[in-house]
Amino acid sequence: MRTLTEIAPGVLVATSSYDVTTTTVVVGSSAGCLVIDPAVTVAELTGLARELAEMGLRPAVGWSTHPHWDHVLWSRELGDAPRYAAPSAVAIAETERDGILDGVRRAAPGHDLELVGRMRSLDATAIPWDGPEAALIVHDGHAPGHGAVFLPGSGVLVAGDMCSDIEIPLLDTAAADPLGDYRAGMERLAAVSGVRQVVPGHGHVGDAAELRRRLGLDGAYLDALATGMPVGDPRLTADSPEWLRTTHEQQVRHFQR
Ligand SMILES: [Zn+2]
Repeated sequence: MRTLTEIAPGVLVATSSYDVTTTTVVVGSSAGCLVIDPAVTVAELTGLARELAEMGLRPAVGWSTHPHWDHVLWSRELGDAPRYAAPSAVAIAETERDGILDGVRRAAPGHDLELVGRMRSLDATAIPWDGPEAALIVHDGHAPGHGAVFLPGSGVLVAGDMCSDIEIPLLDTAAADPLGDYRAGMERLAAVSGVRQVVPGHGHVGDAAELRRRLGLDGAYLDALATGMPVGDPRLTADSPEWLRTTHEQQVRHFQR
């Protein structure tokens, strides 16, 4: 079964059964490809590896947008390409390894835990590979060292856990200035010129107007949190997953203090 959909020439996106999580594949040269946040279940990663092989592609490099369990997965079938993340993301993946592995065991059992979270630290403005330019936009806010990827050749912004159409901003409330960090990250993403499509870590691919709409919703949500005003976010409904509503309530309480 085909799960990868080509959203722009040489840019493929698959969506997991778990929490509408996206995997992005960028086709490079010499049959190599860049794999961003392969997700989520064991069967899905096996299927992804098989599909890439059928397309004549092999992972040449991996990128994890941030150190949350559903963004640091890998499988033997995907091969032994170097996997990277931003330096502070790698540091968190190491210090919070137990929690990351717990998340995998709980929600996506069966993964080879030796491969989870094993990224190398990359302090660079772009992913080192011989494919299309993949610029890195590293900021805090959702998680330390959150690294979005912008592909200027195709105008695709792989936004990690930012700019979702189904999730409110999820803040790193352990940080000294969670709202300031998140706003700074949003400003970095909003400043990228030439975005034609945005791929959120959870949710659906959107165009440039949709990216603006999501950033607007995110800004309004943060303003409501900061001022204690009621939140009227369309992504938060009675049908939202329970964890999302619980996280929202925790965030509201955090900023009431
Ligand atoms: Zn996340």
